[in-house]
This record gives sequence, C-alpha cells and structure tokens, in this order.
Amino acid sequence: MALANHDRSKPVCDVDGCNCESERSFNIKQVSRSSLSLKSEGLRQVHLCKEHYKAYKKETKGHRQIDQVYDDFE
Ligand SMILES: [Zn+2]
Repeated sequence: MALANHDRSKPVCDVDGCNCESERSFNIKQVSRSSLSLKSEGLRQVHLCKEHYKAYKKETKGHRQIDQVYDDFE
C-alpha cells in the first residue's frame, strides 16, 4: 500500500513555515515567551527542530532554570 510509506516516527517542527524534523518538544507556556510564531494556536505541546530550538534558547538566555521555574507555576 502506498499510504504506508509515510514515516510518522518523528513529528515536524511547529514553527510557522518550517518543515524540519522536530528535535524536542516544549510546553506552550515556555515557547510563548519567545517570538517564534507557530503554525497553529492552541497547542499544548510545541515541537521545535534543531534550528528553532537554538533560536528559542538564545531568546530565553538568562533563564537557565526555565524548566524548574515553569514547574513551580503549574
Ligand atoms: Zn523549525
């Protein structure tokens, strides 16, 4: 079956205009702090490719403990 050829093992980056394989996923609350614009709103989990993960990290520099900070918020 031709349909089975789709490789669904890796999700695609959720940043608008990007179709790279995602490297990591983040909580939307974390990503919404950056200026990355996403393909769709209302996501809970955002997938970022290597490049956008780098961009995201750059923007949130100075928040080294961001994961812990957000854990506390929840
Ligand atoms: Zn991307």
